[in-house]
Amino acid sequence: MLLDGWKTFRLIRTALASSHWPAQQLRRVQEEQLRKLLAHAYGNVPLYRTLYDEAGFRPEHFRSLDDLDTIPILQKQRLKAAHPEEVVAHGVDPRRCATVDTSGSTGTPLRIYLGSHDLRWQRAVAWRILFEHGFRWTDRTLEIRMTLGRRFFIQQFGLAPKEWVSILDPPESWVQRLVETQPQVVVAGAGALQALAEAIATLGLEPPGPRLVISDSETLAPTTRRLVHHLLGTEPVDVFGLVELANFAWECEQHCGFHVSADSHIVEIDAPPGEPGPMIATALGMWTMPIIRYDTGDLAERESRPCPCGRSLPILRRLYGRAVDAIVLPDGSRLFWPFFHEVLGRYIELQQWRVLQEEGHRLRLQVVMPTGSIGPLARIEADLREALPGEVVLQVECIEKIPQVPGEKSRMVISRCSTP
Ligand SMILES: [Zn+2]
Repeated sequence: MLLDGWKTFRLIRTALASSHWPAQQLRRVQEEQLRKLLAHAYGNVPLYRTLYDEAGFRPEHFRSLDDLDTIPILQKQRLKAAHPEEVVAHGVDPRRCATVDTSGSTGTPLRIYLGSHDLRWQRAVAWRILFEHGFRWTDRTLEIRMTLGRRFFIQQFGLAPKEWVSILDPPESWVQRLVETQPQVVVAGAGALQALAEAIATLGLEPPGPRLVISDSETLAPTTRRLVHHLLGTEPVDVFGLVELANFAWECEQHCGFHVSADSHIVEIDAPPGEPGPMIATALGMWTMPIIRYDTGDLAERESRPCPCGRSLPILRRLYGRAVDAIVLPDGSRLFWPFFHEVLGRYIELQQWRVLQEEGHRLRLQVVMPTGSIGPLARIEADLREALPGEVVLQVECIEKIPQVPGEKSRMVISRCSTP
C-alpha cells in the first residue's frame, strides 16, 4: 500500500516535469515506452499477435516514431469482437481484473480490463491533469459519476479527500452536497455540470465557488461553459479522454487548445495542422490490456504553433467529437458542432441546443431558452439559415429540456440518417 502510494507520487511528479521537457526528450521517452509495449503486446497478448502477424509487422520494425505508421491500427470493432482472454496478457485472469465499460451510446459497450499497475497509472494520469490546473493535496473534491469510485490509500490519511455523488440522484441533492462539503474541486461530465448549474439556479443559491471545475466525458458546449462559470463562479476546464485510454488532453489556461499528456499517451491526428482528422491514440502505461494505435473514432485538429504557457507538450487546437457526430450532407460535406457554435454562440440567451439531421437536407435545431425569452428565435433561425448551404431545410423549435439518458454521452449533433 505504502509502495503503491509512493509509486503514484513519483509518476505524477515525473508527468508534471515532462510538460517542460525538450521535445527530443519527450520523443525519446515515448519511443522507449512504445518499444517495450509493442514487444509485450506481440509476445503476450493474442489479439496483437494475430493483428501484427496478419500485417507482417514485428515489434523490431519499430525503431523510432518515424516508423509509427507502420504499426497496424487497432479498430474498435476488432477489440469488441475479441474474447477477454485474447485482449489481456498471458497469465492474467480477466475475472480478477478491475473493469470499466464504455457507454456504448453508439453501439455495444466495450469492456476494458485493468490490473493494479494500470489502475495506478490511470490515477496518476488523472491527477496530473488536476495538478496542471493548480490542484493541492489538501483540496476536497466532489465528483459526480455513474459509478462511484473507491477510496484509496492516501485518501485514508486525509489527503485529497473526495466525495462521490451519483448521477442517478436528483441534481438538487448534488447541490446540497456541494453546499455541505464546500469542495475546492468539482469533477463531472459536461451534461452533469449543466444539470448542476441549472439546479443551483432553480434553488436560487449563490455560487459556491470551487477553485477548479473539471468537465470531462462529453463535449463541453460553450453554452454549458458560460452557465457553469456564471453559477459556480469558476470557468470549467475541458478535459478529453476515453474510457478505453483514460483522460489525456486538457485545456490550457492560455486557451491555446488542449495539451496532450505526451509522457503517457501518443496521439496522432491523421490530417495536416488546421484540418480535422481521425485521432489514433496509444496508452503507454496499460499493460494488462494494451491499447496501441487505437482508432478512437474521434476527430481533432493539430496545432503546430507553440503555446505561450511554455509547456512543450503537443497541442490539439480543436476537438470535434466523434466522427459519427457530424451532419453529412448529400454532397458529402460535413458539419461538426463547432460550425453550429460559430452562429449559435453569439446568443447568450441560448441555454442548450442540439441539431438533428432527420434526412438528407432536413435539419432540426432544438433550443432551450429561459422562460419568456424566445424573442431572438427568429434571428437565430435567420443567422443559421444564412450560414448553411442553400439547399438545407431548417426547422427550429424551442423545447423545455434536451433529453439525456444518465450515463450516456450528450450529443450536440445527431444524424438520424442511415445514409447521407
Ligand atoms: Zn499551454
